[in-house]
Amino acid sequence: MRLLFIGPPGAGKGTQAQRVAGRLGIAHISTGDMFRAHVANGTELGKKVDAIMRAGEYVPDEITVAMLAERIAEPDAEAGFILDGFPRTAGQAEALDELLGDDGLDRVVVFEVDEDELVKRLLARGRADDTEETIRTRFRVYQEQTQPLLDFYEARDITVRVNGIGDVEEITDRILAALNAR
Ligand code: AMP
Repeated sequence: MRLLFIGPPGAGKGTQAQRVAGRLGIAHISTGDMFRAHVANGTELGKKVDAIMRAGEYVPDEITVAMLAERIAEPDAEAGFILDGFPRTAGQAEALDELLGDDGLDRVVVFEVDEDELVKRLLARGRADDTEETIRTRFRVYQEQTQPLLDFYEARDITVRVNGIGDVEEITDRILAALNAR
């Protein structure tokens, strides 16, 4: 099973991707986690992306796609995976089609959470890129660059919408139920 989790910053997709991947026995692939690991380890790539992430902007497609392509070629991805936070741009979605074929994704889980709740959650999380100004930038970038991807995947009829408000356990169950229902 190959899944994509998509939603605005703070929607809880990282937490849920990890939980659902565990339940389904597939890999959790988060480009944000991968970039943060590079920054923490002080790699060349980490040095390139640090300032971009702090500003709440997107890392260039070229860098992001190369890193993701390598990751999905690893053996644990053969059993299936959840992509968390990739693709985020039209260019990345096209690159993913080239890597997997355009029927390569089984389902796209779309998280729905209202904006006031999102801001509240992000401010509570306190990650390095969770300042109020950066949050505003991340929302704008999401709306401009990532939201249009919903139409792209909706046209393929593989999206399921999940209400992202509630207990963590309850939302995991909702996602698993939505995946089974289709
Ligand atoms: P996330 O943990 O998914 O919220 O990602 C944190 C930050 O990493 C984002 O705000 C971007 O700066 C960067 N990032 C993660 N995934 C991508 C992606 N697919 N394309 C571009 N930038 C990304």
